[in-house]
Amino acid sequence: MKKISILIPCYNEEKSLPLLYPELVKLMEGNKAYDWELMFVNDGSTDGTLAALQQLRQQDSRVNYVDLSRNFGKEAAMLAGFDYVTGDCMVIIDADLQHPPTLIPEMIKHWEAGYDDVYAKRRSRGKESWLRRRLSLLFYKLLQSSSRFDVLQNVGDFRLLDRKCINALKRMRESERYTKGMYSWIGFNKKEVEFDQGDRLAGDSSWNFRRLFSFALDGITSFTNAPLRISTMMGFVVSVCAFLYMIYVFCKALIYGDPVQGYPTLVILVLFLGGIQLLSLGIIGEYIGRIYNETKNRPDYIVRQFNGEDAL
Ligand code: UDP
Ligand code: MG
Repeated sequence: MKKISILIPCYNEEKSLPLLYPELVKLMEGNKAYDWELMFVNDGSTDGTLAALQQLRQQDSRVNYVDLSRNFGKEAAMLAGFDYVTGDCMVIIDADLQHPPTLIPEMIKHWEAGYDDVYAKRRSRGKESWLRRRLSLLFYKLLQSSSRFDVLQNVGDFRLLDRKCINALKRMRESERYTKGMYSWIGFNKKEVEFDQGDRLAGDSSWNFRRLFSFALDGITSFTNAPLRISTMMGFVVSVCAFLYMIYVFCKALIYGDPVQGYPTLVILVLFLGGIQLLSLGIIGEYIGRIYNETKNRPDYIVRQFNGEDAL
């Protein structure tokens, strides 16, 4: 019998779990042709999430949980899940029921038909501010035009991945993780299904603009060197202009002499060049920071317990 794992990263989801679990049970009872495994990853929750998971585990042996030693972020929590799931395929789903479990049977159908990565695309994005929607659009445009891989908009982590894909993802141990990009990077046969994203049923979204901004930065820096190239190009253009201007100033001084003048020009030049230099330095710094983090070679997450037993 084929085994299907469901991976659910949870960060402060004590209110969502009692809503999510019955839905998953319904799904499992309706598809008895498969073995099921629920893999919850408790990503350092500070509420009663862990207790809720322990209790579920007691009632239902299909429930497994990985308890991380602190909050490592959703990307790392998912990697922990990749390492622990044992299914022939895996469905990643949010704990807040924004990803309808009712879509999973359709995903399985496509998987049985031979697709390795069945991803769900949001038809609508639920309640979201205008600004967030525009920024997200801009981000994907930027990413798409600057890297070779299609990172799709309105496609998230809600997807079914074959064992082949899980194994491929497990080999990618980088610390600045941008899993959405990795799904495209690994390739394999992909299939799209659509769904309507509802609003979070309980609890609060843990994303704010600062987190989203740094997520977007991770996305860009981990998938493309385009910003570095842009700053090189900008430097090139500016230095050509500066060189021409230098010749102009030099000749003018030769021909007409040089009574001291031109304060505005000087100030403009200094500010302009200084600005560009700082910007380029900043971009380089972003990449160096990531190289630094990567060379430390730390594990991406630390497990405290698996199913109540201390991790090695
Ligand atoms: N999540 C996590 N660690 C975090 C933040 C979020 O495991 O540090 C989980 C969270 O419990 C949920 C999923 O990631 O299951 C999506 O989070 P959320 O609903 O807050 O994000 P949004 O839907 O707003 O993108
Ligand atoms: Mg959510």
